[in-house]
Amino acid sequence: MSDKKDKDFPDPDELQKMLKDMFGKMGASVTMPGFSQGDMPAPSQGDSSGPSEVKRADEIFDFNYKPRDIKAHLDRFVIRQDEAKKALSIAVCDHYNHAKYMRSYEQEHGKTPDGIEYQKQNVIVVGPTGVGKTYLVKHIAEMMGVPFVKADATKFSETGYVGGDVDDLVRELVQKAEGDMELAEYGIIYIDEIDKLASSGGNSMGRDVSGRGVQTTLLKLMEETQVAARNPNDMKGQMMAMMDMQNGGDGGKDTINTRHILFIVSGAFSGLEKVVKKRLRSGQIGFGADVAKPLHEGELFSEVNTQDFIDYGFEAEFIGRLPVRVVCEKLEAKDFVNIMQNSEGSLLRQYEREFAAYGIQAKFEDSAIERIAERAETENTGARALMTVCESLLRDFKFELPGTAVSELTIDADLIDKRDEVLAKYRELGKRGDVAKTKEEVELYCREFYEQHEIKIVFTDEAIELLGAEAAKQARSALQICQQRFKDYQFGLNLIQKNTGRCEFELGIKAVADADAFLSECIVQSYKDVAERADKSADKDADSATGIGDGKNGVDDI
Ligand code: ADP
Repeated sequence: MSDKKDKDFPDPDELQKMLKDMFGKMGASVTMPGFSQGDMPAPSQGDSSGPSEVKRADEIFDFNYKPRDIKAHLDRFVIRQDEAKKALSIAVCDHYNHAKYMRSYEQEHGKTPDGIEYQKQNVIVVGPTGVGKTYLVKHIAEMMGVPFVKADATKFSETGYVGGDVDDLVRELVQKAEGDMELAEYGIIYIDEIDKLASSGGNSMGRDVSGRGVQTTLLKLMEETQVAARNPNDMKGQMMAMMDMQNGGDGGKDTINTRHILFIVSGAFSGLEKVVKKRLRSGQIGFGADVAKPLHEGELFSEVNTQDFIDYGFEAEFIGRLPVRVVCEKLEAKDFVNIMQNSEGSLLRQYEREFAAYGIQAKFEDSAIERIAERAETENTGARALMTVCESLLRDFKFELPGTAVSELTIDADLIDKRDEVLAKYRELGKRGDVAKTKEEVELYCREFYEQHEIKIVFTDEAIELLGAEAAKQARSALQICQQRFKDYQFGLNLIQKNTGRCEFELGIKAVADADAFLSECIVQSYKDVAERADKSADKDADSATGIGDGKNGVDDI
């Protein structure tokens, strides 16, 4: 009987081979959430990004941050958004303090504490695009060392997320936690464009029915639910678990509990301000409230309440699970200046690094920063526009300057206002070489040469110019060219020195154009000089011996 069973069911090696063949054919269309990166080449479902370094669950519960600490960390990167920073810092601290308490209680008593009421502090962030909503959440997750998944609500449908299931977001946390299921249970899920799930109100996504369905699905996740560690449609994952069990393993933890997963959702909520305005106005009519103070857009958002979200098209239950409301302000030109100059994640540092990779030291002057900020403001895409503006301004410079003699790029108002003119100047400089810089390098080479060989060499101005041009052409420094071209020059010059007694040598364009030929010529000449001198002195000796020329030899007399 057992023989038959063994025969029917392949042994682990056979099974592994079969699966390998099968998955080889299925290729990347199979997803396998819940497994380590090495096992799983499946593409990410959401637009997710995560902390480069996630901690182990135990380490997270060593955390002792106060809201002020988190805000101070965020201040290093995120400009403005003070209220959002404060609210998020408090929500995150409360959330993880509660999770920490629950975990230590469970570990100590083997059960959850009785009678503890806790409403999860899921957050809704309202704000236009590019003002730092994602940036805030990303830095919080990084600081906490928890896995972080970002998704886009527009990709949800009632039946699931594009290419998968809404639950995959939770499973993706496990991937981010490198398979650490417990750590995944304390991760952060961030869903952008949540306003597109509204079933009426300002948006025209035609999501009336499916939007409501997605809200209901998300609602369960945000509350508390168990998500299967493996997608039921993920054959590969299921079979790997089966194999694991066959090999005596327990197939891994089956479910992920979402109780301690923090949800942060955000959106631009265009049209919401109208809803708020309408309510305030009717309130004013109804109760004769203060009519004198008209509120502008930013202020209207900060007045938003639960009913406004419901009127906008959200289910009351859904919006009720998002008790922390945060408004991110629209950024202006002066904020962009501040971002470029003071944020640790400033785009300018990125540009400087990118140019530095080609040996070009790029420097942004304040005048350019102001211009970039002004242009970015007109784009209406928040700080994202900084990249758009810089990219289009610097594209030609980044394309043309690497590999030329240009080693410094000053990005100032002129470069922005007269881009073509400035580019032409750099192009020319690239060809010619930078004379001052070449001179410096050549002088350095001459000094090195003297220190090593005690022979003084100098280059003529024409020779320096030629070296500069060659350096530009070869995308090398003049110093490098000298070091290579005049590598063994000391031997030849030594000979000449011995022959002629000269201790200083001037090198002109001939020496730069063909160093070996020039040196050979000089050596030959020095020998000729020696011979000539020898001839001369021999003649002189002979003359003095015979008395020729001194009128004493008496030949004339002959
Ligand atoms: P969104 O609000 O649409 O989520 P992001 O947070 O993704 O926008 O911002 C895009 C990029 O712009 C960030 O990666 C960051 O470099 C920059 N950025 C946006 N807002 C700020 C800010 N307030 N301070 C500093 N940088 C910011």
